[in-house]
Amino acid sequence: MATRREKERRELRYNDAKSRAEKQTSGFGPSSIKIPKGFPLFAFKKEGKFRLRILPYSTSDRKIDRTFCDAGGILHYEYSYWTHRADETTHCCLKKTFHKACPVCDHLAKLDRYGSDKELYDSMKPKQRQLFALLDLDDREKGVQVFECSYYFGLGEEIDTMMTDHADKYGGFFHLQDGKVLEVSIKQGTFNGRANYKVHRVEMVEGKDLDEDILNTVPCLDELPIEESAKKLAEMIRGPSIEIPDAQDGDDGDLVEDEDDEEPVSSEKPIFTKGDKVRHKKYGPCTVEKIAATDGSLVLLDEDDEYHKGIDPDTVSRIEAEEDEDLEEEDDDDEEMIDDSTDDEDEKPAKKKK
Ligand SMILES: [Zn+2]
Repeated sequence: MATRREKERRELRYNDAKSRAEKQTSGFGPSSIKIPKGFPLFAFKKEGKFRLRILPYSTSDRKIDRTFCDAGGILHYEYSYWTHRADETTHCCLKKTFHKACPVCDHLAKLDRYGSDKELYDSMKPKQRQLFALLDLDDREKGVQVFECSYYFGLGEEIDTMMTDHADKYGGFFHLQDGKVLEVSIKQGTFNGRANYKVHRVEMVEGKDLDEDILNTVPCLDELPIEESAKKLAEMIRGPSIEIPDAQDGDDGDLVEDEDDEEPVSSEKPIFTKGDKVRHKKYGPCTVEKIAATDGSLVLLDEDDEYHKGIDPDTVSRIEAEEDEDLEEEDDDDEEMIDDSTDDEDEKPAKKKK
């Protein structure tokens, strides 16, 4: 359907959707992305058929993983990135998404992924997620929406399958001219006792040509993943206090004067259990509320009901029995409060406990 306008138009360079499918070899968390103002986040919230138009966006020059599409203004229909789920929030994997050192990946490398740490490893390992920009043809008032999902949600997989099997027929599905409408059938299921929706089937049918102006309204998907600092990710898995400051670093310096030794991380940590009464040099008498499965760091509750995460067990000492009597007993059901009081990320629905 070439038009006269097409000749005047700047050259549109589409990425090859089939090659994206070929390059594909292989939870919930928009806290890993920044949605530009004014773009609703799309979700499949009911069973039935959705009619969607996946829109092309123009890739940026950002230094970010380019496994599936090059930088520099190529028109592509998705951005694939990798996240870690830890500490009840989702964060971009610095290694796979930004090709930088990733403290979470480093941590995972130390785990016994096939043995005692299997569950933890599986929950934290990098997971592939996808971003799309789309129009819901049955809800046009919303305009261009951003859709973020796991690759294994099914939409990306289905598209890749279609590209692999029928690239000649569907390869240009996201193009402005001769593009396709995706008819996505959604089925309801349950996960952890809650309703969820999965892609049952995707079909592609003829779509109307879209005006090139729409490109100006599509957010650049490869700019949405948030690149956090390695320091922040390290804190996420080990807690903010794990990097024991040097003595000359001011107020916190006395932390290292604790009885055991001055090594930030000792291989022989004192063994504590939930409910133990301990004394922390800075926070005073505390109760051990949780022992992180990731690295054995402690979550302490002090006498002011303040939680302190990521406490190196080497920096606390057990309180002897008679001293113990001065301390209040604590409820056992406060774990969820830990999330509320210490999580500075976007609010998340309560998740199953580790
Ligand atoms: Zn990583």
